[in-house]
Amino acid sequence: MNRGAAQMTDEADRYYSGSGAVPLRGTIIVLLGGALAIAGLSLLYSIAEFYVSHQKLKVLIALCYAMLVGGAVKLLSRFGAVRSRLFSGLLGLALGLFAVYSAWMWFLVILSGWNMQVAGLSPTVMWEAIQALAGAGIWRNRNGIAVGATELAVWWSLEALAVIAAATYMATTNREPYCEACGRWTEASPIAALPPAPIEALKAELEDERYESLYRLGRQPLTPGAGLTAQVWTCRDCKESNFLTMSDVSVKVKGSEEKVTSTAFVQHLLVPEEVARWVRERDQHAVAPAVDDPPIAQG
Ligand SMILES: [Zn+2]
Repeated sequence: MNRGAAQMTDEADRYYSGSGAVPLRGTIIVLLGGALAIAGLSLLYSIAEFYVSHQKLKVLIALCYAMLVGGAVKLLSRFGAVRSRLFSGLLGLALGLFAVYSAWMWFLVILSGWNMQVAGLSPTVMWEAIQALAGAGIWRNRNGIAVGATELAVWWSLEALAVIAAATYMATTNREPYCEACGRWTEASPIAALPPAPIEALKAELEDERYESLYRLGRQPLTPGAGLTAQVWTCRDCKESNFLTMSDVSVKVKGSEEKVTSTAFVQHLLVPEEVARWVRERDQHAVAPAVDDPPIAQG
């Protein structure tokens, strides 16, 4: 049997690559759901920013807003099954911009004594109002001195940037493989710890659909400080979509801190159901190889 060219194609095919599908329904879910969520979140955010004067608390509230907007965009993008991370990012960017706009809109409404007509101002008029606000010295610092226009502009820019960046980035973080046949995301298993092994050889065997070395590895004792981890992503509805990721992990101890470095050498490789089951039934408690012995102090 000639395995040359055919095998090469097989290997390439057996790694998951997203379909990049952008369903119209999903796009509408992300944009509409996102806009609704942001309208509510930005109202709460603007109320908090209006009434809280403590500077550190203001920063914390702004970070919370950025994280909540980003989290909502991520969830909706997942729910809408948008498989293109680039397109998800663009949706996140659009929603991030809307989140900044919406927060300012509510803020101006509150500032005007809940005059809802202010909500209908055009972005150009809003922009002029914001510039006028910066120069008006409406914020006072701890010592009762009005915060300068430049300082306010820097703070407002950073705030806007954090919200836009969080929404854009979080939208691209749905990295799980998607089962196209069943129309659902796969679910991750707990991470299984394995002893160290020559990774290039193991990778070649796994790509060649030979799993004996992996099974053998599972029977050997774990080694403190270094090893491999295995994790599978499985579709709950079918037995076909099982993807294996294996990483090379080492734990370095510096003082009282443990620094864990993990490098994936096999990422989302399609494997049979039995391999997925085997990984899931491994020791589910060990996240990374444990360091048993205290480090020997270096002289
Ligand atoms: Zn499936």
